[in-house]
Amino acid sequence: MAKLKLDKISADPPREAEKEAYKEKTKALQKAIDEWQNKLYAEHKHALLIVFQGMDASGKDGAVRSVFSEVNPQGISVHSFKVPTEEETDHDFLWRIHKQTPGKGMIKIFNRSHYEDVLVTRVHKLINDKTAKERMKAINDFENLLTANNTHILKFYLHITPEEQSERLAERMEIKRKMWKYNPGDAIEAKSWKEYRKYYEDCFEHCNEVPWMIVPSNKNWYKEYVVAKAVHDLLKKINPKYPSLEKE
Ligand code: AMP
Ligand code: MG
Repeated sequence: MAKLKLDKISADPPREAEKEAYKEKTKALQKAIDEWQNKLYAEHKHALLIVFQGMDASGKDGAVRSVFSEVNPQGISVHSFKVPTEEETDHDFLWRIHKQTPGKGMIKIFNRSHYEDVLVTRVHKLINDKTAKERMKAINDFENLLTANNTHILKFYLHITPEEQSERLAERMEIKRKMWKYNPGDAIEAKSWKEYRKYYEDCFEHCNEVPWMIVPSNKNWYKEYVVAKAVHDLLKKINPKYPSLEKE
């Protein structure tokens, strides 16, 4: 894919988009996703893997909470990838990721993912460019392997502006309900915004065999709609069906 420049892409909803109307559309999509998920589970042929990436406070947790709020918990699970443990770092970077991939009939959400291994690790110079290139090749092979096994993958980059991020990080110091998310490390990471952007753009360029969706995320209601619509449309395209009883 040609080099994509994040600062050339708007993080805001289209001007004509109207908040209340979009919230209604999202509600309908949430319900429809639940219906499709039931069929996905019943048919037991396909799996869905949904990857969320984005800067701190870009709204990954909120997207998970909103889009899948109607889905039967038996058919879905979330894994949030944190700083690797000692056991995890003793293995190749995909070891901990592969173990979390969805089995047939399931939806799995990755809140952060294998992409951290070519993002935060590059910003902090834990790996060099050569290793990053090798890892990106391994990521393409890995995603192709999953795809060939009927695991359909959606990759969302939640796109916010640095100004929006500063506001959201400030809220974590001011609003009681948000304080638990306050992490002094986030302000330090935010200083590396340009570096993160550069390495994200590198991922979009080199790991786009399974394509990325850049989601304008300055407004949560629009982000939720875009993600819900993409999840819904993919399930509809997979078109899972309830199996009937075997003929005698
Ligand atoms: P949070 O998503 O706020 O719970 O934070 C999780 C933290 O784990 C973030 O700071 C990530 O950058 C970090 N993290 C996740 N995966 C990795 C990784 N593979 N290597 C280093 N840090 C990671
Ligand atoms: Mg955080």
